[in-house]
Amino acid sequence: MATIDITKLRKVFGDENGEIVAVDDLDLTVEDGEFLVFVGPSGCGKTTTLRCIAGLEDVTSGTIEFDGRDVTDRRARERDVAMVFQNYALYPHMTVRKNIGFPLRLSTKQSSDEIDARVEEIAGLLGIDTLLEQKPRELSGGQQQRVALGRAIIRDPEVFLMDEPLSNLDAKLRSTMRTELQELQSELGVTTAYVTHDQTEAMAMGDRIVILEGGELQQVGTPSDVYRSPANEFVAGFIGSPSINAFTADVDGGLLTGPGGFEYALDDPSLVEGYDRVRVGVRPEDLRPEVDGAMPSEVTVVEEMGNENFLYARMGDVDLTARIESEIHPEEGVTVAFGFDEEDLYLFDPKTSESIKTKTSETDISYEQYVQPGPDQ
Ligand code: ATP
Repeated sequence: MATIDITKLRKVFGDENGEIVAVDDLDLTVEDGEFLVFVGPSGCGKTTTLRCIAGLEDVTSGTIEFDGRDVTDRRARERDVAMVFQNYALYPHMTVRKNIGFPLRLSTKQSSDEIDARVEEIAGLLGIDTLLEQKPRELSGGQQQRVALGRAIIRDPEVFLMDEPLSNLDAKLRSTMRTELQELQSELGVTTAYVTHDQTEAMAMGDRIVILEGGELQQVGTPSDVYRSPANEFVAGFIGSPSINAFTADVDGGLLTGPGGFEYALDDPSLVEGYDRVRVGVRPEDLRPEVDGAMPSEVTVVEEMGNENFLYARMGDVDLTARIESEIHPEEGVTVAFGFDEEDLYLFDPKTSESIKTKTSETDISYEQYVQPGPDQ
């Protein structure tokens, strides 16, 4: 097991046609035994960061330490990391037994019997002990993914690095494997860095989440931290599904006014002192239809999810989404005034996009309450 210290990590790709800063002065510590998830939009530098930790990519500058040992210039095979990728890369001609045992056959002097015993132990842990004599093509996607995990686990590494390992699986299996992987990681206690573009997966799995954008660290924190106290509007928009509703409002004393007749008098006007305008954010789950709510809106679509309804509405030129109880089912085309509690309101600096105010409500949130699986999950 290891603590990973990343200091001022920078990775620039480039040639005569220009340079791309894939990772920009990243400072980060992955704690011993932690499950840390990197998340962010495509191209934000997740995979490059992981490959630098693995030793598969030379860094431009900065250092990477495992338990205080500088490994920046060490090659991958000298780092004691095991990687699992989206592409399982199993050997098609080998049985499951041979696939899992392969790293040990390659790197240790253990006897065949010893290796077999270890393979059987790990296959038991992963629930694939009845498949040991099968070939990969005879297995389902989930079973193949377990074999790939087995091959990583058998090396007993200091660090697991996983890059979108579940994205080839269908929705149901992905959800099952998420739980299994988390349980396994906590049982083994191996420091794990995990990459995904899917914020639902990040929220569900991570002890802490690292949000990157354009190669820069936006925030690192627990799922609850990044949902409740996003550092900036980007994080607020990226975490939570459906996304936070956000728009610009004018400030007059403590009064906020905005598109489509939005009008809200802050209980605490000091929050916006010195601002002429602010960005306002309210999460879909914090909106509720009211008689005289701050956000007069025309309902455009109602989606019934069974346990709740999604209302899509327009407030002036702003599209809004609200998650409300399934009993409330307004007609499309009617006007609804959405209200919210000030403690759930987010405010962002319109120039820097940094948070001015985040959630202050006391509610103890579990991820299921606020993360709705997207259409492809
Ligand atoms: P995705 O979710 O799409 O995999 P990512 O967050 O993992 O994206 P990276 O693969 O780390 O992003 O890429 C970060 C940036 O670096 C991108 O702009 C990408 O085009 C660039 N990049 C990555 N690898 C190389 C390379 N080998 N040569 C040149 N540019 C690269």
